[in-house]
Amino acid sequence: MTNPGYDDTPIIPGTNWRVHDNARPQPRIVAPGTACSEEILLSPPSDAVILFDGTDLSGWISTADGTPAGWKVENGYMEVVPGTGYIQTREEFGDCQLHLEFAAPTEIKGESQGRGNSGVFLMGLYEIQVLDCYENPTYADGTTGALYGQFPPLVNACRRPGEWQSYDVIWEGPRFDGDQVTRPARITVMLNGVLLHHATELRGPTAHKVVTEYEPHAETGPLALQDHSDLVRFRNIWYRPLKGYDQA
Ligand code: MG
Repeated sequence: MTNPGYDDTPIIPGTNWRVHDNARPQPRIVAPGTACSEEILLSPPSDAVILFDGTDLSGWISTADGTPAGWKVENGYMEVVPGTGYIQTREEFGDCQLHLEFAAPTEIKGESQGRGNSGVFLMGLYEIQVLDCYENPTYADGTTGALYGQFPPLVNACRRPGEWQSYDVIWEGPRFDGDQVTRPARITVMLNGVLLHHATELRGPTAHKVVTEYEPHAETGPLALQDHSDLVRFRNIWYRPLKGYDQA
C-alpha cells in the first residue's frame, strides 16, 4: 500500500505534519533482541498490581456498558472477540509503570491499519497503538507503538506476527486546574526492550483524523484495550503505581 495515510487532515500544531500524514517519514526498522517473553513469561515484581494473570477477565468490563468483558481467555492469554467492543479494567489508577504483552494474529490478513490492530488506552483515553507493522507499512503516527495521531515511535521494533511482544510504559497523567492544563501527560514507552518514546508530552487524548485537545478529567482512570476487529492477544498485564513520583 503506497498511500495508507491522509493528505487532507489538519496540521498538528508545532509540527510540519498533518494528522496521519502520508509524507511523514517511516520509523526506522530495528530488530529487537531475543525475547525473554517469547517462551518464558516474565514474573511481575512483588509490588505489582495484577490486571490480567492469564486465567480470567473478572477484573475487566465492557467499556460501552459496563457488562462483563466479552473477550475470550485461553492458554494464558485473552483474545479480542470482534464486535464485543473495547474492554477496560475495573481498577482505576493514575501515574504508573505498566507492563503488558501482546501478539498479532499469526494468520496475516489485511494491510496498513487493517492488520493486527488493537490499542492500549491509558486512562481509557490515550492510545499506544497496537498493530502488526512487521513488513506492513502504514502512516507513521499509526505505527506499532505510536502515540496514535500524534507521535510516531522512534523506531519500528516489531516482532513477527504471532510472536509475543512487550510494552513497558512509564505514564504520568495530565494535571488540570479548572479548565487549564497545568501539566500535559508524559509517557515513556519501550517495545520489546527498545525505546520508542521518552518523556514525550502528549497533546491531548487520542483522536482520529483531527487535532486533539485536552479536556479536564480525574487523576485516575481505567486501562482499556481496543476491539478493532482483529484477533489480537494480550497477557501478563500489571502496573506499579508511581504515587508521589512527581513530588519526589
Ligand atoms: Mg488501534
